[in-house]
Amino acid sequence: MPSSSASDSPVPLLAQHQHRALLRTLTLALACLLAACNRLDNPVYHDQFFAFGTLIDLTFYDVDPARAKQASRALEQAFMQMHSDWHAWQPGALQQVNQQLAEEGQATTDPAMAALLQEANRLSTLSNGLFNPLIGRLVALWGFHNDEPPSGPPPAEDLIRQLVEQVPTSADVHVDGKQISSRHPAVRYDLGAFAKGYAIDRGIELLQEQGIAHAIINAGGDLCAIGRHGKRPWRIGIRDPRKPGVLASIELTGDESVFTSGDYERFFEHEGQRYHHIIDPRSGNPAGAVVSATVIHPLAATADAAATALFVAGPDAWPAIARQMGVEYVMLVDREGRIHMNPAMQARLIFESKPDTIVMSETL
Ligand code: AMP
Ligand code: MG
Repeated sequence: MPSSSASDSPVPLLAQHQHRALLRTLTLALACLLAACNRLDNPVYHDQFFAFGTLIDLTFYDVDPARAKQASRALEQAFMQMHSDWHAWQPGALQQVNQQLAEEGQATTDPAMAALLQEANRLSTLSNGLFNPLIGRLVALWGFHNDEPPSGPPPAEDLIRQLVEQVPTSADVHVDGKQISSRHPAVRYDLGAFAKGYAIDRGIELLQEQGIAHAIINAGGDLCAIGRHGKRPWRIGIRDPRKPGVLASIELTGDESVFTSGDYERFFEHEGQRYHHIIDPRSGNPAGAVVSATVIHPLAATADAAATALFVAGPDAWPAIARQMGVEYVMLVDREGRIHMNPAMQARLIFESKPDTIVMSETL
């Protein structure tokens, strides 16, 4: 009679090993099957955290839940760090750059910050300075360097005029390696129109490094989508600037970002007039002609900068600026509710209700 003792015969021992290995394989296979079933049942993973003053909403498709959770925690950490490093008015790396530039005309920073500022400067040049990340002093004068929007009244006109007379441009700043220099006394970086987009691009890189191929990072309606939602493309909505709900929806194919700048995001009202946070660097006042500008572009950083620039450019000047910035899809909503867009954008949008007036630009 075969013994089950390990010492008296090697045969049953081998069988026991095989038995254990088989059991392990079966258990593993069962676990994989269950995980796969789970993913088939619900292949969408959702998570949220707060950064850049807004809710960051993550959606991953067909990712193992443990890996999804790990990636989501890594993203949250990265976003927290970027938010504090790039903050326009709270202590952090960007504030140090601003302070050193103001005091010494030069600043030394790390390569990541230098790359961020260089890209902001490059896009500013392409926008003819309508996206101007150097107007921190104007944004502060309007009271928007605060978590809560100001309550008004608007700043005195002569104070605005003084700052407009010395608005710096991207040509006033030089980035060389980790060294940033400027002789312009009014240079103050404010990356409010750009940092979220740049951060989303870094976030997408982080996901892709972790093997996540199908995802959306959505920061308060501004987002980048990669891959697909299973068999169909991702579908997203563009907010109506004047009433709750969606103005139009769109399918995103491949890796694309959709960013909207709107006068409804941060504003105050004074004597019946709305003063919002997107400043025309030429006048020093909130840009007045449109209420929202939506841009689609492969890169979130470009989409973010361009949405701000085209908001400032307004209904007449936007096509030229869009071309310069390499943007192929644009929609503006003007103060009268008219939709301005190019044919390529129209071909992709599904409106909730047919717009009264569409002003079509030539092809970009
Ligand atoms: P966004 O919502 O992306 O258009 O960004 C608006 C934010 O960017 C504001 O809250 C300001 O911090 C900053 N900002 C305002 N006007 C401009 C401008 N013309 N160019 C660059 N940044 C701006
Ligand atoms: Mg922007």
